[in-house]
Amino acid sequence: MTSNDPLVIRSLEFMGGMASIGGWRPEAALPEIAFAGRSNVGKSSLLNRLIQRKKFARVSNTPGRTREVNFFKVNGAFVFVDLPGYGYARISKERRAEWKPLIESYLRGSEQLRGIVQLLDARHDPTNDDRQMLDFLATLGVPTVVVLTKIDKLTPKERRERIAGITDILGLDEDQVIPFSAVTGDGRNELAEAIDALLAQPSWKENGS
Ligand code: GDP
Repeated sequence: MTSNDPLVIRSLEFMGGMASIGGWRPEAALPEIAFAGRSNVGKSSLLNRLIQRKKFARVSNTPGRTREVNFFKVNGAFVFVDLPGYGYARISKERRAEWKPLIESYLRGSEQLRGIVQLLDARHDPTNDDRQMLDFLATLGVPTVVVLTKIDKLTPKERRERIAGITDILGLDEDQVIPFSAVTGDGRNELAEAIDALLAQPSWKENGS
């Protein structure tokens, strides 16, 4: 970690998890940044790389916590919110649909939310669940940063093609997505800067949304 790191993590505290709709969540006193993506997209790996610690997101991946909204206080100053991974193919349709009301419940009650980091697998087109999530965020008017994960798995040529393909599908410019690799650290500082910028903004709810 260098002194010009845009997101130096000095302290980290697991605050607890929101397990049910309208259930317990920490008091919304600090600015929040939430992380969303389908199961296996690389969210835990991204969080660990972002904050330069190996074990941070393990708590979110322990049985019983994977379907909760998990809250982590960073530097005593802001909160990272790890939303449950959605769209896991191997669980039943009924269970698959569970994530939505819980994430919606979290989003609607989050007075201090500054923005969402939405993860998409760089290798694939966005799934229906991804599209639904992005549409939902757009409807609510939550500032959203799109990160394309596992970019190290692509050759430079594939990388250019996939970025062009995904941004085209989503109607975004290429400079509106951050290619990221938890393995090489590509995109880590860019993401940290984007999060810094979101934190400096007023809450989306104060923005007239
Ligand atoms: P989560 O379910 O979204 O939290 O996903 P994980 O972080 O647990 O990652 C799912 C799988 O993808 C694991 O096997 C990771 O090692 C792998 N993975 C995650 N990020 C990357 C990445 O940037 N590059 C590569 N090559 N593999 C990754």
